Amino acid sequence: MTNKEAFALAKKYIPGGVDSPVRAFGSVGGEPFIVKNASGAYIYDIEGNRYLDFIQSWGPLIFGHCDKDIENSVFEAVKNGLSYGAPCENETKLASMIVSEFDDIEKIRFVSSGTEATMSAIRVARGYAKKDGLIKFEGCYHGHSDALLVKAGSGATTYGNASSAGVPNDVVKNTHLAIYNDIKSVENIFKNHQIGAVIIEPIAGNMGLVPSDAKFLKQLRELCDKFGAVLILDEVMSGFRASKHGSKPFYDVKADLITFGKVIGGGMPVAAFGGRAEIMDCLSPDGAVYQAGTLSGNPVAMAAGIASLSKIQNSPKLYEKLENLAKRLVDGFKNAANNAGVAMQTDVRGSMFGFFFNENPVKNYDDALKSDTKLYAKFHRKMLEKGVYLAPSQFETGFICDAMSEADIDFAINAAKEAFLEIKNG
Ligand SMILES: *Cc1c(COP(=O)(O)O)cnc(C)c1O
Repeated sequence: MTNKEAFALAKKYIPGGVDSPVRAFGSVGGEPFIVKNASGAYIYDIEGNRYLDFIQSWGPLIFGHCDKDIENSVFEAVKNGLSYGAPCENETKLASMIVSEFDDIEKIRFVSSGTEATMSAIRVARGYAKKDGLIKFEGCYHGHSDALLVKAGSGATTYGNASSAGVPNDVVKNTHLAIYNDIKSVENIFKNHQIGAVIIEPIAGNMGLVPSDAKFLKQLRELCDKFGAVLILDEVMSGFRASKHGSKPFYDVKADLITFGKVIGGGMPVAAFGGRAEIMDCLSPDGAVYQAGTLSGNPVAMAAGIASLSKIQNSPKLYEKLENLAKRLVDGFKNAANNAGVAMQTDVRGSMFGFFFNENPVKNYDDALKSDTKLYAKFHRKMLEKGVYLAPSQFETGFICDAMSEADIDFAINAAKEAFLEIKNG
């Protein structure tokens, strides 16, 4: 089957042919390729084309596809059963590995997706604070639970929905939208509503890469303290990605709760939320906040997480290497763009990179939306033709993996040079 035939067949049985909307290439046009397999830095389609993969499953694969250590730990775990629905030692082991890396976290609970992690963190935060109001930031994405689908970023941005159909207004009436990096917008909400929780991506990765300002985040912490709200740092993407300690090295801000996902599962469905014991002990069975999951703490998924984090602990130079490659890439992209007369804003946080076709620095969602998405679509298609797989949307973050070399990065930069020249010469 060709990619085209396989995608047509997928569309017959699956809405839009995909199980997560951004995969459908809606904002860049064309159709997605259908994956046959992947290895290291590369992903291959069913027609035999090879692509250098800067998506890496949207973040989880910090060591690249088919990392041998993670694979082997999964193979071993599978032999002992796929799921128990009862406590196993792997859960405690992975929990202790994360808790020991974060001063803010005393207890942690595992779930199977980032969506569940943020939804559950908000529930326990509200249960602890005993106030219903929630503040989220425009352009930040925290998964697809009802209360958070208020002008969400990522896939929802791409599809131009201010919010999702099927979400009753009653469900989002306690969700207040603030402007990223704008402390006044937060203060106004605090002054006018009873706020129990604030959720933020300290390094936003779902409107493109937009890190928060250190001063802004510090002031946000102060407002939460002043008004008695729980501060949730959503590090589902940035956790073990921006650094071994997520956003921590970039900010001097204590979190009440932190959410994780992506890298902590090494490619398996694992996510988690954790924080101060005083808050986490509000969860059932000890407390009154209900939260559960049939496959939560799945032994095979835990094994992949343990292997992934062990490897991170044993690779002291990992993030330095990934950051150098990320910088090399965006510098190369920027030069190529500028040489063709195209304005580009770039940023890097550890293994995360972002670039906007934008004249001005991007500090919030409105700024991001001023980017040239038509140009991005053209660039995306050209890069794909040249064997480089970038996110099919201007409003996503790119990921470097340990399997990438300088030669891989230079291959992508050369492709970008050609792409910009071709676009310029129309
Ligand atoms: C990916 C992501 C989520 C949602 O995680 P899923 O596993 O896709 O449900 C939540 N928050 C952030 C910051 C993310 O990047």
